[in-house]
Amino acid sequence: MAKRLIFLGPPGAGKGTQAQVLAENHQIPHVSTGDILRSAVAQQTRLGKQAKDYMDKGELVPDALILDLIQDRLSYEDTANGWILDGFPRNINQASFLEELLVKLNQSADCVLNLSVPDEVLVARLLARKRKDDNEETIRRRLEIYHQDTVPVINFYQQKKTLKTIDGNQTMEAVTKSLSEAIS
Ligand code: AMP
Repeated sequence: MAKRLIFLGPPGAGKGTQAQVLAENHQIPHVSTGDILRSAVAQQTRLGKQAKDYMDKGELVPDALILDLIQDRLSYEDTANGWILDGFPRNINQASFLEELLVKLNQSADCVLNLSVPDEVLVARLLARKRKDDNEETIRRRLEIYHQDTVPVINFYQQKKTLKTIDGNQTMEAVTKSLSEAIS
């Protein structure tokens, strides 16, 4: 059975790590817009050059850059048996775009997983991670943007009753177990 999963959660919730594990277990691609953007920045592509400043500041990259990217990625052949979206949608406009895109692709998401972790735990985790955009100021900005732009996406999916919230403030193994139970 195809598995199509949307992963939501604040920065530092462990989405990337958990999405990777689920992707391997289910043999489906892990589509992380953050990873795609970071690789574009490293390769200094046109997209990378346009995205870099926003990422360094902890702002969202403009939708105009992201929507084409996700449309392309979900049209690759490896997505036929499913996918895990990590880091997309990040705002209501992206969520509406995804709805329309999935209709065009004749697909629908099976489950929206929301990994929940308190802010103070996130800040501590992100400060320990030492990624380029993980300094204290940027972390606070990313959390602010999360509450402002991404939390409405949680409400959007909650109304559609496809959302499952998982406690992300547990050991990595316990989170993996909760997620596997939620999608089985
Ligand atoms: P992430 O690895 O998901 O935390 O993303 C790192 C950074 O990439 C974010 O802080 C944003 O600047 C950018 N980014 C990733 N995904 C998106 C998205 N769906 N929309 C806008 N910006 C994004």
